[in-house]
Amino acid sequence: MTVRAETGDVGRHAARVGAALDAFLADGSDALERRPEWTAALDRPLPEQGLGADGVLGELERHVIPNGTRLSEPGFWGWITTGPTTIGAVTTLAATVAAPQRATLTAFNLLEEVSLGWLAELCGLPAGMKGVYSSGGSTANLVALGAARQWALERAGLDPAADGLDGRPLAIYASAEAHHTVQRAAGVLGLGRRAVRVVGVDDRGRLDPGALRRALAQDAAAGVLPVAVVATAGTTNTGAIDPLRAAGELAREHGAWFHVDGAYGLLGILDERVADRYDGLELADSAIVDPHKWLRAPVGIGATFVRDRAILHRAFTQEPAEYLEGSFTDPQDARVSLDAMGVPYQDFAVELSSPARGAVVWAILRELGREGVRALIRADNDLARRLADRVRVSERLELLLEPELSICCLRHRAPGAADPDALNAALLRRLLQETPYLPSSTLVGGRLAIRPCFINARTEPGHVDDFAAAVERIGDELVAAAA
Ligand SMILES: *Cc1c(COP(=O)(O)O)cnc(C)c1O
Repeated sequence: MTVRAETGDVGRHAARVGAALDAFLADGSDALERRPEWTAALDRPLPEQGLGADGVLGELERHVIPNGTRLSEPGFWGWITTGPTTIGAVTTLAATVAAPQRATLTAFNLLEEVSLGWLAELCGLPAGMKGVYSSGGSTANLVALGAARQWALERAGLDPAADGLDGRPLAIYASAEAHHTVQRAAGVLGLGRRAVRVVGVDDRGRLDPGALRRALAQDAAAGVLPVAVVATAGTTNTGAIDPLRAAGELAREHGAWFHVDGAYGLLGILDERVADRYDGLELADSAIVDPHKWLRAPVGIGATFVRDRAILHRAFTQEPAEYLEGSFTDPQDARVSLDAMGVPYQDFAVELSSPARGAVVWAILRELGREGVRALIRADNDLARRLADRVRVSERLELLLEPELSICCLRHRAPGAADPDALNAALLRRLLQETPYLPSSTLVGGRLAIRPCFINARTEPGHVDDFAAAVERIGDELVAAAA
């Protein structure tokens, strides 16, 4: 018999999935160990006959959910991505069913705008900045730099969204520690990756304003049009915050757009101990933040903010002739929500169909409030400081960089080792294999660092202490074995 799709009974099925997820969170995953088993169960030919919803639920429970990733485990500190907290996960389900699109006059369309406003305020962005959600920092940077391109070329008498580029040399300026999605955005926007001038950094990984000034001056002399200066508020490698005021003022001086990439670190401004490092944020023409990073939203949510969304509309509209107002219908006239589209987010970025991400961000901020978010940011920064303190008092460990936000870069001193980098690389491999801790690695001043990034809602201070002890122990063993 042909199976038809189940269209109701969400509660019963969701409860089954919920129970399986709770078990997964309690047990953790060792997907790699069981790989032959789940590969055999799942990698099968296209089924001729459907299994029905209950059958699929059974496979989800048995083979899929238990073999997910370890991102939600308390010791996962590798990427700036983490397992979502409960309210974000279940609100995603709610939005999927109740508002499969963000458009039209619904509570979800309103929450898109409400949560963007809350997020901008929370991050200390200049009053009046407006935003749009997209799938994450990569797209959010693309959208911001698309606005920069539109703005810079309009001032030169060109409409790049309508007419494309005219071959004149253009440049974007970003530090060597900036995220490489800046280069990708430059490629997609037709400027080319090589249009990104890579500016040097100081010994703490922060953009060097002197180097930026020289790069801008050199290009100005060569007739290159400066499109945007990109500063990072919380670099991916080490959490460094670029000197925003100096970068923003140089951008102004040279007539360039000033973009702040705060995908990870913009929320760090909530920690009073480091808030002054964001001085100059008010100069930003655009800024991005990823709720799916420090706010622990499910992956797929980034936000771009600009001073005036009309620039986004000109850069990204599908209907260049139709100006903003044309997309609104007066809510007074609307008899059903489909009579009016609500805020036309589809014209502010690159997606038409899009999930209602705002409700998810709203739910997280409603659950925690400003104080709750501040507490989690402080607690994560505290974990990095706790680890740094622990490293400082250890004779065998070395702190490679004082933590700025919630990233701590350390390594084993590897006394007597011929190649301390290689020893620490081996140490990291053993950590991942033998302990519940999954930091990543990076280079600090050319030296290999073990790099935990604390944004994980499930991490406790005791995990950090235990991790430090594990680094000492495994490092000692490797040193002894090499001697
Ligand atoms: C993570 C990150 C990005 C990219 O964001 P995605 O959400 O992974 O696409 C961009 N910039 C910075 C500074 C980041 O940390």
